[in-house]
Amino acid sequence: MVKICLDCHYVNAGGFVCTECSGRLVMVSDPEAKSLPDTVWRNQRVDYGARRGMIMRFTAIFAGSTTGLYGVRQSFGMTPPWSYVATAGSIAIGLAIWWTLYLAAARGVRVWILAKGRVHNARLVRAIVLAMLPLKRGRKRQREPRGPALVDSAARAPRDG
Ligand SMILES: [Zn+2]
Repeated sequence: MVKICLDCHYVNAGGFVCTECSGRLVMVSDPEAKSLPDTVWRNQRVDYGARRGMIMRFTAIFAGSTTGLYGVRQSFGMTPPWSYVATAGSIAIGLAIWWTLYLAAARGVRVWILAKGRVHNARLVRAIVLAMLPLKRGRKRQREPRGPALVDSAARAPRDG
């Protein structure tokens, strides 16, 4: 459950006291929260949107790989020419599911945030990039033979000029 601090507007994952300033927390649905300045809500939407997109991308990977692996497993029971076809087909379907959800996530985040919040573009982009960083960093480490320290500092460096 997400709660907002009335004093510093920091978003806490539940609890009664703010972890940043030990101020009082209210639920987002609380009438008291509605009186918070507009900027708080705008920032919330960016964070929510980015988080939502992240969850959806995770769901996409999960749904795609589960479907694909299930199909691959089932195809082991088939006779040789068809088992290969079924295996390839399962992987293709799994990838298609993943890609569809992945695109939907990107579009959903953009529509949801822009329609409701009319946020400054730079902030929106930064939030989405930050939400995707763990994925990118993981891939980078596999591909590039650089040391972890180098990769880390490169990933932490500001991207927008
Ligand atoms: Zn606080």
